Amino acid sequence: MKYVRQFGGGSAEGRSKDKALLGGKGANLAEMASLGLPVPPGFTITTEVCRIVMEKGDDVDPAGRSEFDPLHLGPDELRGEVEAALERVEELTQTRFGDPSSPLLVSVRSGAPASMPGMMDTILNLGLNDTTVAALAARAKNDRFAWDCYRRFIAMYSDVVLGVSAETEDAEDPFDKILEGIKTKHRAQRDQDLSAEALRETVAAFKAEVQRATGKPFPDDVTAQLWGAIGAVFRSWNNPRADVYRKMNGISATMGTAVNVQAMVFGNLGDDCATGVAFTRNPATGTAELYGEFLTNAQGEDVVAGIRTPEPIAELAKRLPAAHAELVRVAKLLEDHFRDMQDLEFTIQSGQLYMLQTRNGKRTGKAMVKVAVDLVAEGKLQPKEAVMRIDPAKLDEVLHPTIDPKARPQPVAKGLPASPGAAIGKIVFTASAADQWAQKGETVLLVRTDTSPEDIHGMKAAAGILTARGGMTSHAAVVARGMGKCCITSCTSLRVDAAKKTASFIGGGKELKLKEGDVLTLDGSTGEVFVGSAPLMPAQLGSELGTLMEWVDQFRRLKVRTNADTPTDARTARSFGAEGIGLCRTEHMFFQPERIMAVREMIVAGDEAGRRAALAKILPMQREDFVELFRVMHELPVTIRLLDPPLHEFLPHTPAEIEELAATTGKTATQITHKVAELTEANPMLGHRGVRLAITYPEIYEIQVQAIGEAASQCAREGLLVHPEIMIPLVMVPEELKRMRELCTKAMTKALGGVPIPFTIGTMIELPRACVVADRIAQHADFFSFGTNDLTQTTFGLSRDDAGRFLPSYVEQGVLPSDPFAVLDPDGVGALIELGVRGGRSSKPGLKVGICGEHGGEPSSVEFCHRAGFDYVSCSPFRVPIARVAAARAALSEERP
Ligand code: PEP
Ligand code: MG
Repeated sequence: MKYVRQFGGGSAEGRSKDKALLGGKGANLAEMASLGLPVPPGFTITTEVCRIVMEKGDDVDPAGRSEFDPLHLGPDELRGEVEAALERVEELTQTRFGDPSSPLLVSVRSGAPASMPGMMDTILNLGLNDTTVAALAARAKNDRFAWDCYRRFIAMYSDVVLGVSAETEDAEDPFDKILEGIKTKHRAQRDQDLSAEALRETVAAFKAEVQRATGKPFPDDVTAQLWGAIGAVFRSWNNPRADVYRKMNGISATMGTAVNVQAMVFGNLGDDCATGVAFTRNPATGTAELYGEFLTNAQGEDVVAGIRTPEPIAELAKRLPAAHAELVRVAKLLEDHFRDMQDLEFTIQSGQLYMLQTRNGKRTGKAMVKVAVDLVAEGKLQPKEAVMRIDPAKLDEVLHPTIDPKARPQPVAKGLPASPGAAIGKIVFTASAADQWAQKGETVLLVRTDTSPEDIHGMKAAAGILTARGGMTSHAAVVARGMGKCCITSCTSLRVDAAKKTASFIGGGKELKLKEGDVLTLDGSTGEVFVGSAPLMPAQLGSELGTLMEWVDQFRRLKVRTNADTPTDARTARSFGAEGIGLCRTEHMFFQPERIMAVREMIVAGDEAGRRAALAKILPMQREDFVELFRVMHELPVTIRLLDPPLHEFLPHTPAEIEELAATTGKTATQITHKVAELTEANPMLGHRGVRLAITYPEIYEIQVQAIGEAASQCAREGLLVHPEIMIPLVMVPEELKRMRELCTKAMTKALGGVPIPFTIGTMIELPRACVVADRIAQHADFFSFGTNDLTQTTFGLSRDDAGRFLPSYVEQGVLPSDPFAVLDPDGVGALIELGVRGGRSSKPGLKVGICGEHGGEPSSVEFCHRAGFDYVSCSPFRVPIARVAAARAALSEERP
């Protein structure tokens, strides 16, 4: 095992496939070097070392905090391997680390196997001290440049390695504060306006601050600097923001990060120097154009940090045409090589282009679809590969609402459209406030001068993000795009005072003041900001999505249905490609205001005759509901689930409602109150609900089935093709279903009145016992539909209504990998489902099996259903396209060797 791998000088000890060991950045630096691209030489310390250090560090300090010393905890060979690798970099660059006349400077960067942009730490210009700074000045013939590098290095190193930083979230960074003071003293507007002398003064003040804050001088020894930086990068793997990011993106905490040590190239040597980031296609729209930003005479972090507003890459063609042409060539070469849109980091030193990073670019859902479809059109990908490039969950964004153009208000401000979609919310000014407000159930927008990776938890909690600074590739933009959240950056008229909890938009001699809690609307697709809430409208689906969906439908085996109770939902779902209704919850029809009184009459009726009289009032309304649904779903199956919730949910609660029901039924208010008390259950989720209602009051299901049958025959007479499927909920013993089958068959046959409409009768499987005795239940069922909401609830013994109070903490602490009500639990609930499918099909081969719990639209759960041999999944209308893609991906991944 070699712990250090070299790259540069036209060769590399590794390739892009080695991401697990070299991290994404290291693996791709190696790949670029081996392709002969201009990559400054360097080496990668493998993730293996990070894992060793973490493991031993845990033993030393169980809190896992300060002990990340790689020399003390890393493998014995590490020191020697690093020294040898450093020597090779020295040879290739003809410099020496710490040399007083020709010093090598390096960058030390993190690079995890999975991309975690901006989450971990980086140090530039390492190797500078009071001696080497003079040599650097002499070599560059530029005093100012050398001292600028030095002051940057001290600030970065002190923050990252020595922990000298702002004391609170709102407080100013101590080094920024010193720098601002020196700028004021020297009447410098911008950092670039500071003279070498002023920068020298800055360095002295920075060092004094380090001494004050740490009680020790800033380290002069370059070797100590290097090992300190390596340890800090390892430690940053465990910093809170990296931890939040990993949890959000399902990245394992045990992988560890690699460390890349690379010879510095300088974008800040003069006006023929620049640094920038570029995407080979537009990451917001997917348009094929070199897209990005650069800053002349600057270092890399300036672009990402959003301190100066960068220029669009097209400008580079005018400023540095040769370097721009070379960038265009390299960008095309890399995109063709990786067959995907690349996100590049580059530096131009004295007109010469250097590549510092390439990776598959993060993109919006819209760009994801367009790039995949375009790459197929360009002959670079096969349709199957394009489908495997689609993250189904990300399609959500394409389906997001936008501001209605017909009722678009006047914007109050405009910034860069960093991440699309529209969001309305109450504004807050710190990440913590966003978190707290969101926990109280508020929809918030995080409004800041700029965001830093520390803000990630607030960005996660917010519906949208607005910043005064930053560009399209600033931290806020990259992270928001990854999250699929609406984001506007560089809104220059915005002023934020986080401490006072106020903000304002300044322009045209006017100022519009805002305070915490005020409502704004953001349009992340145009960059416009509106005061108050603007009218939104549903997403517009582009032609690329249509093309993608055609491929998807060729590859998938699972059918995709929808959960819909209303004609509107059914129509939306059909437009998204739903192939039927998998769950129509009839109780939602009972809750409508004009019907609730009849339902209540039914519940409080003392006998069957009374219940039938009340049900007779509901019958025509139910029939009309089903007629509408059958019309919308012409030719497609419609699964109608009979009444499921406990009856007391329908009962009156307020005194006025009780009085009204008393008056209608001729009972007294006291009698009604007693009835309510009688029906109230200690544990209604496990009570008198589902099929249990019909075992005690069969007439409820009988009348519902009559309404289905009459609606079906009416539609058939209109020439429509109807496929009603009657579904019985919460079955626990076969006998329940046997009785209901008899009842439903009889009622349906009667209601159809001889019109030949095929119908089926099936059951939900949503109790563990039903899974276990599925073979016997199947004898009375034409189909099974797994109700994984209740099945999760009853398998875990976790209330689906209350678990939200503590489940997030389970997930946060890693006790559970995810919320089992959102992502199907394959080990427990999944095992029961497999048992149920096996049992059901053992007594009824070819039994149709589906799912209608919330998991039916969640990609990994859909893949589970595919593997378990389901016939269909059913999900909410907006998730239908997601489920279709997930189903295709499941089928395609089975094809792979
Ligand atoms: C279920 O339990 O998964 C289900 C679909 O039924 P409901 O959510 O209506 O209980
Ligand atoms: Mg249920």
